Amino acid sequence: MPSPVGHVLLAFAISGVPGPREVFTRWWPVLVLFAAIAPDLDFLPGILIGDPNRFHHGPSHSIAAAVVFTMVLALIFRSLSKVRVFVIFAVYLGHVLVDTLAADPGAPYGAPLLWPFDDHYTIAPVTLFSNFGHGAQGAGLGSVIRDIFSVHNLWAVAIEVAILGPLLWLTERYRRRRRSS
Ligand SMILES: [Zn+2]
Repeated sequence: MPSPVGHVLLAFAISGVPGPREVFTRWWPVLVLFAAIAPDLDFLPGILIGDPNRFHHGPSHSIAAAVVFTMVLALIFRSLSKVRVFVIFAVYLGHVLVDTLAADPGAPYGAPLLWPFDDHYTIAPVTLFSNFGHGAQGAGLGSVIRDIFSVHNLWAVAIEVAILGPLLWLTERYRRRRRSS
């Protein structure tokens, strides 16, 4: 999986970067950030039982989860426009798809994209991103934290910034041009 940095860069490329004032005064940027990291909330039940990776890359990393997540958010935030509801779906699904583009050191490889209709895991034929290390299944919280703050992960984040940074720059440039035309 890519790091939260990679996930947030991709999310803002999809939704547009919020202005500095918007970040603290509007719900929208918070919802985008939440959708960007929501699939990885599957770490939480594992953290509670002392094995953070136990449930990671399960059903929350599927297209069905993206649909359910979007529907729940649309029901809670009824004032969201159709475009923004779609952006939330795209940000969540973007997280799941980008996970399948990262190196995966442990089976099952990739994500169960078609769950619950098909339990098979899918990984992209090309690997764009390095694996953001977060311990192996069965590793305790201490070893997971040590892994997260490793030199390897600095390198993994650098690759994400090198790939997704220019993408974000391009999408922002496109948005600015459209606004000024
Ligand atoms: Zn993920």
